[in-house]
Amino acid sequence: MADRLAGVPLAPYTTLRTGGPARAFTQARTQDELVAIVAEADHEGEPVLVLGGGSNLVVSDDGFDGLVVRVVTRGVDVTAPTSAAGDGRVLVTVQAGEDWDALVARCVAEGWSGVECLSGIPGLVGSTPIQNVGAYGQDVSQTVAAVRVYDRATGEVGDLTAAECGFAYRHSAFKHDPGRHMVLAVTYALERSPLSGPVAYKELATRLGVEIGARVPLADAREAVLELRRGKGMVLDPDDPDTRSAGSFFTNPVLGPEEAAALALRAPGHPRWDMPDGTVKIPAAWLIENAGFPKGYERGRVRISTKHTLALTNPSGEAGATELLALAREVRDGVHEKFGVWLVNEPVLVGVRL
Ligand SMILES: Cc1cc2nc3c(=O)[nH]c(=O)nc-3n(C[C@H](O)[C@H](O)[C@H](O)COP(=O)(O)OP(=O)(O)OC[C@H]3O[C@@H](n4cnc5c(N)ncnc54)[C@H](O)[C@@H]3O)c2cc1C
Repeated sequence: MADRLAGVPLAPYTTLRTGGPARAFTQARTQDELVAIVAEADHEGEPVLVLGGGSNLVVSDDGFDGLVVRVVTRGVDVTAPTSAAGDGRVLVTVQAGEDWDALVARCVAEGWSGVECLSGIPGLVGSTPIQNVGAYGQDVSQTVAAVRVYDRATGEVGDLTAAECGFAYRHSAFKHDPGRHMVLAVTYALERSPLSGPVAYKELATRLGVEIGARVPLADAREAVLELRRGKGMVLDPDDPDTRSAGSFFTNPVLGPEEAAALALRAPGHPRWDMPDGTVKIPAAWLIENAGFPKGYERGRVRISTKHTLALTNPSGEAGATELLALAREVRDGVHEKFGVWLVNEPVLVGVRL
Protein backbone atom coordinates (compact mmCIF):
# COMPACT_ATOMS: atom_id res chain seq x y z
CA MET A 1 0.00 0.00 0.00
CA ALA A 2 1.18 3.54 -0.79
CA ASP A 3 2.78 5.69 1.92
CA ARG A 4 0.64 8.06 3.95
CA LEU A 5 2.01 11.48 4.82
CA ALA A 6 0.56 13.75 7.51
CA GLY A 7 -0.09 17.48 7.30
CA VAL A 8 0.70 17.95 3.60
CA PRO A 9 -0.40 21.50 2.56
CA LEU A 10 -2.93 21.31 -0.27
CA ALA A 11 -2.48 24.79 -1.78
CA PRO A 12 0.42 23.69 -4.04
CA TYR A 13 -1.82 20.94 -5.45
CA THR A 14 -4.56 23.35 -6.57
CA THR A 15 -4.43 25.87 -9.40
CA LEU A 16 -6.08 28.50 -7.15
CA ARG A 17 -3.29 27.95 -4.61
CA THR A 18 -5.65 27.69 -1.65
CA GLY A 19 -5.98 24.91 0.90
CA GLY A 20 -4.53 24.10 4.32
CA PRO A 21 -3.06 20.75 5.33
CA ALA A 22 -4.52 17.29 4.71
CA ARG A 23 -4.73 15.12 7.81
CA ALA A 24 -3.35 12.31 5.62
CA PHE A 25 -2.13 12.33 2.01
CA THR A 26 -1.32 9.47 -0.34
CA GLN A 27 -0.94 8.72 -4.04
CA ALA A 28 -2.51 5.90 -6.06
CA ARG A 29 -0.41 4.59 -8.96
CA THR A 30 -2.70 1.82 -10.22
CA GLN A 31 -6.45 1.18 -10.42
CA ASP A 32 -6.14 -1.58 -7.83
CA GLU A 33 -4.23 0.68 -5.48
CA LEU A 34 -6.81 3.44 -5.90
CA VAL A 35 -9.67 1.07 -5.12
CA ALA A 36 -7.86 -0.50 -2.16
CA ILE A 37 -6.96 2.87 -0.60
CA VAL A 38 -10.50 4.22 -0.87
CA ALA A 39 -12.12 0.94 0.24
CA GLU A 40 -9.94 0.82 3.33
CA ALA A 41 -10.62 4.47 4.18
CA ASP A 42 -14.36 3.84 3.77
CA HIS A 43 -14.10 0.77 5.99
CA GLU A 44 -12.40 2.90 8.66
CA GLY A 45 -14.97 5.68 8.25
CA GLU A 46 -12.26 8.11 7.18
CA PRO A 47 -13.38 10.99 4.91
CA VAL A 48 -11.76 10.86 1.45
CA LEU A 49 -10.95 13.62 -1.04
CA VAL A 50 -9.91 12.42 -4.47
CA LEU A 51 -7.43 14.84 -5.99
CA GLY A 52 -6.83 15.11 -9.72
CA GLY A 53 -5.05 18.16 -11.12
CA GLY A 54 -6.68 20.42 -8.49
CA SER A 55 -7.93 22.77 -11.22
CA ASN A 56 -11.55 22.72 -10.17
CA LEU A 57 -11.19 22.88 -6.41
CA VAL A 58 -11.49 25.53 -3.72
CA VAL A 59 -10.06 23.94 -0.59
CA SER A 60 -10.61 25.45 2.87
CA ASP A 61 -7.76 27.27 4.59
CA ASP A 62 -8.27 24.73 7.40
CA GLY A 63 -7.35 21.95 4.97
CA PHE A 64 -9.04 18.56 4.81
CA ASP A 65 -9.71 16.50 7.92
CA GLY A 66 -9.35 13.12 6.26
CA LEU A 67 -7.40 11.29 3.57
CA VAL A 68 -6.49 13.02 0.31
CA VAL A 69 -5.80 10.51 -2.47
CA ARG A 70 -3.92 11.93 -5.43
CA VAL A 71 -4.59 9.96 -8.60
CA VAL A 72 -1.39 9.28 -10.56
CA THR A 73 -2.49 6.21 -12.54
CA ARG A 74 -1.11 6.03 -16.08
CA GLY A 75 -1.89 4.29 -19.34
CA VAL A 76 -3.61 4.77 -22.72
CA ASP A 77 -5.01 1.76 -24.65
CA VAL A 78 -6.20 2.07 -28.21
CA THR A 79 -8.57 -0.40 -29.88
CA ALA A 80 -10.82 -0.44 -32.91
CA PRO A 81 -14.49 -1.10 -32.14
CA THR A 82 -15.56 -4.61 -33.11
CA SER A 83 -19.05 -3.83 -34.44
CA ALA A 84 -19.55 -2.74 -38.05
CA ALA A 85 -21.27 0.38 -36.71
CA GLY A 86 -17.94 1.38 -35.22
CA ASP A 87 -16.14 1.56 -38.57
CA GLY A 88 -13.92 4.59 -38.81
CA ARG A 89 -13.78 5.04 -35.07
CA VAL A 90 -11.14 4.34 -32.51
CA LEU A 91 -11.72 3.57 -28.85
CA VAL A 92 -9.20 5.21 -26.55
CA THR A 93 -9.25 3.98 -22.96
CA VAL A 94 -7.34 6.26 -20.64
CA GLN A 95 -6.42 5.85 -16.97
CA ALA A 96 -7.84 8.53 -14.67
CA GLY A 97 -4.43 9.97 -13.76
CA GLU A 98 -3.38 10.87 -17.31
CA ASP A 99 -3.07 14.58 -18.11
CA TRP A 100 -6.07 15.70 -20.16
CA ASP A 101 -4.32 18.16 -22.47
CA ALA A 102 -1.50 15.71 -23.21
CA LEU A 103 -4.21 13.26 -24.31
CA VAL A 104 -5.83 15.89 -26.55
CA ALA A 105 -2.44 16.70 -28.10
CA ARG A 106 -1.92 13.01 -28.84
CA CYS A 107 -5.40 12.63 -30.37
CA VAL A 108 -4.71 15.59 -32.66
CA ALA A 109 -1.31 14.17 -33.66
CA GLU A 110 -2.77 10.70 -34.33
CA GLY A 111 -5.73 11.95 -36.38
CA TRP A 112 -8.43 11.06 -33.85
CA SER A 113 -11.17 13.65 -34.05
CA GLY A 114 -13.66 14.72 -31.36
CA VAL A 115 -11.78 16.39 -28.49
CA GLU A 116 -9.61 18.99 -30.30
CA CYS A 117 -11.74 21.94 -29.11
CA LEU A 118 -11.08 20.84 -25.53
CA SER A 119 -7.39 21.75 -25.93
CA GLY A 120 -5.70 23.58 -23.08
CA ILE A 121 -8.13 22.57 -20.32
CA PRO A 122 -6.11 21.73 -17.20
CA GLY A 123 -6.62 18.67 -15.04
CA LEU A 124 -6.74 14.93 -15.44
CA VAL A 125 -8.77 12.51 -17.52
CA GLY A 126 -10.61 11.07 -14.50
CA SER A 127 -12.27 14.40 -13.77
CA THR A 128 -13.59 15.02 -17.28
CA PRO A 129 -16.84 13.02 -16.92
CA ILE A 130 -17.58 14.50 -13.49
CA GLN A 131 -18.58 17.92 -14.78
CA ASN A 132 -18.80 16.97 -18.46
CA VAL A 133 -15.83 19.17 -19.28
CA GLY A 134 -16.52 21.41 -22.22
CA ALA A 135 -15.42 24.44 -24.21
CA TYR A 136 -15.73 26.00 -27.69
CA GLY A 137 -18.70 23.88 -28.74
CA GLN A 138 -17.47 20.47 -27.60
CA ASP A 139 -17.88 18.59 -24.36
CA VAL A 140 -16.84 15.10 -23.39
CA SER A 141 -20.43 13.82 -23.45
CA GLN A 142 -20.05 13.79 -27.25
CA THR A 143 -17.20 11.26 -27.15
CA VAL A 144 -17.35 9.34 -23.85
CA ALA A 145 -18.28 5.73 -24.62
CA ALA A 146 -17.82 4.27 -21.13
CA VAL A 147 -16.53 5.17 -17.69
CA ARG A 148 -14.94 2.56 -15.45
CA VAL A 149 -15.85 3.34 -11.84
CA TYR A 150 -15.46 2.06 -8.34
CA ASP A 151 -18.82 2.45 -6.63
CA ARG A 152 -18.15 3.21 -2.97
CA ALA A 153 -21.76 2.43 -2.05
CA THR A 154 -21.67 -1.14 -3.37
CA GLY A 155 -17.92 -1.80 -3.27
CA GLU A 156 -17.99 -2.90 -6.92
CA VAL A 157 -15.98 -1.98 -9.98
CA GLY A 158 -18.00 -1.68 -13.20
CA ASP A 159 -18.45 0.17 -16.47
CA LEU A 160 -21.08 2.86 -16.98
CA THR A 161 -22.36 3.66 -20.45
CA ALA A 162 -22.50 7.29 -21.57
CA ALA A 163 -26.29 7.24 -21.03
CA GLU A 164 -25.81 6.08 -17.44
CA CYS A 165 -23.48 9.04 -16.84
CA GLY A 166 -26.47 11.40 -17.31
CA PHE A 167 -24.47 14.14 -18.99
CA ALA A 168 -25.81 17.69 -19.20
CA TYR A 169 -24.23 21.15 -19.38
CA ARG A 170 -21.27 21.03 -16.91
CA HIS A 171 -23.16 18.31 -15.12
CA SER A 172 -23.44 14.54 -14.85
CA ALA A 173 -25.02 11.85 -12.70
CA PHE A 174 -21.76 11.80 -10.73
CA LYS A 175 -22.66 15.21 -9.32
CA HIS A 176 -26.01 13.96 -7.96
CA ASP A 177 -24.18 11.81 -5.48
CA PRO A 178 -20.80 13.51 -5.05
CA GLY A 179 -17.93 11.25 -4.07
CA ARG A 180 -19.84 7.99 -4.57
CA HIS A 181 -18.10 6.99 -7.81
CA MET A 182 -14.36 6.95 -8.22
CA VAL A 183 -13.49 7.26 -11.88
CA LEU A 184 -10.80 4.70 -12.70
CA ALA A 185 -10.63 5.08 -16.49
CA VAL A 186 -12.55 6.67 -19.35
CA THR A 187 -13.10 5.29 -22.86
CA TYR A 188 -13.57 7.88 -25.61
CA ALA A 189 -14.91 6.91 -29.05
CA LEU A 190 -13.16 9.15 -31.58
CA GLU A 191 -13.46 9.44 -35.33
CA ARG A 192 -10.40 8.54 -37.40
CA SER A 193 -10.18 11.77 -39.36
CA PRO A 194 -7.64 14.51 -40.05
CA LEU A 195 -10.50 17.00 -39.65
CA SER A 196 -12.09 18.49 -36.55
CA GLY A 197 -15.70 17.94 -35.66
CA PRO A 198 -18.00 20.61 -37.18
CA VAL A 199 -17.01 23.94 -35.63
CA ALA A 200 -19.95 24.88 -33.42
CA TYR A 201 -18.75 28.01 -31.63
CA LYS A 202 -18.95 31.42 -33.28
CA GLU A 203 -15.80 32.90 -31.79
CA LEU A 204 -13.78 29.87 -32.86
CA ALA A 205 -15.25 29.89 -36.37
CA THR A 206 -14.34 33.59 -36.68
CA ARG A 207 -10.78 32.95 -35.50
CA LEU A 208 -10.45 30.12 -38.01
CA GLY A 209 -12.05 32.20 -40.78
CA VAL A 210 -14.72 29.55 -41.49
CA GLU A 211 -18.48 29.24 -41.24
CA ILE A 212 -20.18 27.48 -38.34
CA GLY A 213 -20.39 23.78 -39.21
CA ALA A 214 -17.15 23.73 -41.22
CA ARG A 215 -14.46 21.17 -40.45
CA VAL A 216 -10.82 22.20 -40.29
CA PRO A 217 -7.51 20.33 -39.84
CA LEU A 218 -7.26 19.04 -36.29
CA ALA A 219 -4.03 20.94 -35.60
CA ASP A 220 -5.60 24.21 -36.78
CA ALA A 221 -8.54 23.72 -34.42
CA ARG A 222 -6.21 23.00 -31.50
CA GLU A 223 -3.97 25.99 -32.24
CA ALA A 224 -6.91 28.37 -32.61
CA VAL A 225 -8.47 27.17 -29.35
CA LEU A 226 -5.16 27.51 -27.51
CA GLU A 227 -4.68 31.05 -28.85
CA LEU A 228 -8.20 32.06 -27.82
CA ARG A 229 -7.74 30.49 -24.40
CA ARG A 230 -4.34 32.13 -23.80
CA GLY A 231 -5.89 35.51 -24.58
CA LYS A 232 -8.36 34.87 -21.74
CA GLY A 233 -5.82 33.50 -19.25
CA MET A 234 -7.42 30.08 -19.61
CA VAL A 235 -4.25 28.09 -20.24
CA LEU A 236 -2.16 27.50 -17.11
CA ASP A 237 0.98 29.63 -17.27
CA PRO A 238 3.23 30.20 -14.24
CA ASP A 239 4.15 33.62 -15.71
CA ASP A 240 0.52 34.73 -16.00
CA PRO A 241 -1.08 35.55 -12.61
CA ASP A 242 -4.51 35.58 -14.28
CA THR A 243 -4.24 31.82 -14.63
CA ARG A 244 -4.07 31.28 -10.85
CA SER A 245 -7.75 30.40 -10.91
CA ALA A 246 -10.13 27.47 -11.15
CA GLY A 247 -11.22 28.53 -14.64
CA SER A 248 -14.76 29.86 -14.79
CA PHE A 249 -15.95 30.33 -11.23
CA PHE A 250 -19.65 30.49 -12.17
CA THR A 251 -21.64 28.45 -14.67
CA ASN A 252 -23.91 30.18 -17.16
CA PRO A 253 -27.36 30.18 -15.54
CA VAL A 254 -30.05 28.21 -17.35
CA LEU A 255 -33.46 29.79 -16.74
CA GLY A 256 -36.96 28.39 -17.10
CA PRO A 257 -39.49 30.43 -19.12
CA GLU A 258 -40.81 32.37 -16.10
CA GLU A 259 -37.38 33.33 -14.80
CA ALA A 260 -36.30 34.25 -18.33
CA ALA A 261 -39.34 36.52 -18.72
CA ALA A 262 -38.56 38.19 -15.38
CA LEU A 263 -34.98 38.82 -16.45
CA ALA A 264 -36.11 40.23 -19.80
CA LEU A 265 -38.17 42.83 -17.90
CA ARG A 266 -35.19 43.85 -15.79
CA ALA A 267 -32.67 43.80 -18.64
CA PRO A 268 -34.40 44.21 -22.00
CA GLY A 269 -32.26 42.96 -24.92
CA HIS A 270 -29.80 41.06 -22.75
CA PRO A 271 -27.74 38.37 -24.51
CA ARG A 272 -29.26 34.89 -24.36
CA TRP A 273 -29.01 31.48 -25.95
CA ASP A 274 -32.40 29.86 -26.49
CA MET A 275 -32.01 26.14 -25.83
CA PRO A 276 -33.95 23.43 -27.72
CA ASP A 277 -35.83 22.41 -24.54
CA GLY A 278 -37.30 25.89 -24.06
CA THR A 279 -34.86 27.00 -21.36
CA VAL A 280 -32.67 30.05 -21.81
CA LYS A 281 -28.95 30.11 -21.06
CA ILE A 282 -27.55 33.48 -20.00
CA PRO A 283 -23.85 34.38 -20.23
CA ALA A 284 -22.76 34.72 -16.60
CA ALA A 285 -19.93 37.04 -17.71
CA TRP A 286 -22.47 39.55 -19.05
CA LEU A 287 -24.47 39.45 -15.81
CA ILE A 288 -21.33 39.99 -13.73
CA GLU A 289 -19.99 42.87 -15.82
CA ASN A 290 -23.38 44.56 -15.96
CA ALA A 291 -23.86 44.20 -12.22
CA GLY A 292 -20.79 46.40 -11.77
CA PHE A 293 -17.90 43.94 -11.61
CA PRO A 294 -15.48 44.64 -14.45
CA LYS A 295 -12.41 42.62 -15.40
CA GLY A 296 -9.61 43.30 -12.89
CA TYR A 297 -12.10 44.14 -10.05
CA GLU A 298 -9.97 43.74 -6.92
CA ARG A 299 -10.64 42.97 -3.27
CA GLY A 300 -7.42 42.80 -1.24
CA ARG A 301 -5.27 40.00 -2.62
CA VAL A 302 -7.89 38.49 -4.92
CA ARG A 303 -9.46 39.83 -8.08
CA ILE A 304 -11.52 39.07 -11.16
CA SER A 305 -9.10 38.09 -13.93
CA THR A 306 -7.97 41.07 -16.01
CA LYS A 307 -8.71 38.95 -19.11
CA HIS A 308 -11.88 37.02 -18.30
CA THR A 309 -14.81 38.14 -16.16
CA LEU A 310 -15.75 34.61 -15.10
CA ALA A 311 -12.40 33.73 -13.51
CA LEU A 312 -11.72 34.68 -9.91
CA THR A 313 -8.00 34.71 -9.29
CA ASN A 314 -5.41 34.58 -6.54
CA PRO A 315 -2.68 36.40 -8.50
CA SER A 316 0.10 36.28 -5.87
CA GLY A 317 -0.94 32.82 -4.70
CA GLU A 318 -0.88 34.22 -1.15
CA ALA A 319 -4.59 34.72 -0.52
CA GLY A 320 -6.70 32.02 1.10
CA ALA A 321 -10.03 30.44 0.26
CA THR A 322 -11.73 32.78 2.77
CA GLU A 323 -10.72 35.88 0.80
CA LEU A 324 -11.56 34.29 -2.51
CA LEU A 325 -15.02 33.22 -1.37
CA ALA A 326 -15.74 36.69 0.03
CA LEU A 327 -15.20 38.05 -3.49
CA ALA A 328 -17.30 35.25 -4.98
CA ARG A 329 -20.14 36.08 -2.57
CA GLU A 330 -19.94 39.77 -3.38
CA VAL A 331 -20.24 39.00 -7.10
CA ARG A 332 -23.00 36.43 -6.66
CA ASP A 333 -25.05 38.73 -4.39
CA GLY A 334 -24.47 41.75 -6.64
CA VAL A 335 -25.77 39.85 -9.66
CA HIS A 336 -28.81 38.67 -7.71
CA GLU A 337 -29.60 42.16 -6.49
CA LYS A 338 -29.38 43.64 -9.99
CA PHE A 339 -30.89 40.84 -12.08
CA GLY A 340 -32.69 38.47 -9.68
CA VAL A 341 -30.56 35.55 -10.93
CA TRP A 342 -28.49 33.38 -8.61
CA LEU A 343 -25.11 32.37 -9.99
CA VAL A 344 -23.88 28.90 -9.09
CA ASN A 345 -20.23 28.02 -8.56
CA GLU A 346 -18.57 25.65 -11.02
CA PRO A 347 -15.56 24.53 -8.89
CA VAL A 348 -16.03 21.98 -6.13
CA LEU A 349 -15.90 23.57 -2.67
CA VAL A 350 -14.09 21.51 -0.05
CA GLY A 351 -14.76 22.45 3.57
CA VAL A 352 -16.12 25.86 2.56
CA ARG A 353 -19.45 27.29 1.40
CA LEU A 354 -20.41 30.09 -0.90
C1 LIG B 1 -7.23 28.00 -16.23
C2 LIG B 1 -8.39 27.03 -16.18
C3 LIG B 1 -9.22 26.87 -17.28
C4 LIG B 1 -10.29 25.95 -17.24
N1 LIG B 1 -11.09 25.82 -18.33
C5 LIG B 1 -12.11 24.94 -18.32
C6 LIG B 1 -12.95 24.77 -19.48
O1 LIG B 1 -12.74 25.40 -20.51
N2 LIG B 1 -13.97 23.88 -19.40
C7 LIG B 1 -14.20 23.13 -18.29
O2 LIG B 1 -15.14 22.31 -18.30
N3 LIG B 1 -13.43 23.26 -17.18
C8 LIG B 1 -12.40 24.15 -17.18
N4 LIG B 1 -11.63 24.30 -16.06
C9 LIG B 1 -11.95 23.55 -14.85
C10 LIG B 1 -11.12 22.26 -14.69
O3 LIG B 1 -9.94 22.31 -15.42
C11 LIG B 1 -11.88 21.01 -15.12
O4 LIG B 1 -13.06 20.90 -14.39
C12 LIG B 1 -11.06 19.74 -14.94
O5 LIG B 1 -11.72 18.64 -15.50
C13 LIG B 1 -10.76 19.42 -13.48
O6 LIG B 1 -9.82 18.36 -13.47
P1 LIG B 1 -8.87 18.10 -12.24
O7 LIG B 1 -8.19 16.81 -12.51
O8 LIG B 1 -7.98 19.26 -12.00
O9 LIG B 1 -9.93 17.92 -11.07
P2 LIG B 1 -9.82 18.31 -9.51
O10 LIG B 1 -9.87 19.79 -9.41
O11 LIG B 1 -8.63 17.65 -8.91
O12 LIG B 1 -11.13 17.65 -8.96
C14 LIG B 1 -12.41 18.14 -9.32
C15 LIG B 1 -13.49 17.25 -8.71
O13 LIG B 1 -13.44 15.97 -9.32
C16 LIG B 1 -13.19 14.96 -8.32
N5 LIG B 1 -12.33 13.98 -8.96
C17 LIG B 1 -11.09 14.16 -9.48
N6 LIG B 1 -10.62 13.01 -9.98
C18 LIG B 1 -11.58 12.07 -9.76
C19 LIG B 1 -11.68 10.68 -10.03
N7 LIG B 1 -10.73 10.00 -10.66
N8 LIG B 1 -12.82 10.04 -9.64
C20 LIG B 1 -13.80 10.68 -9.00
N9 LIG B 1 -13.75 11.99 -8.71
C21 LIG B 1 -12.66 12.69 -9.09
C22 LIG B 1 -12.53 15.69 -7.18
O14 LIG B 1 -12.72 15.00 -5.95
C23 LIG B 1 -13.28 17.02 -7.22
O15 LIG B 1 -14.55 16.86 -6.61
C24 LIG B 1 -10.53 25.21 -16.08
C25 LIG B 1 -9.69 25.37 -14.95
C26 LIG B 1 -8.63 26.27 -15.01
C27 LIG B 1 -7.73 26.43 -13.83
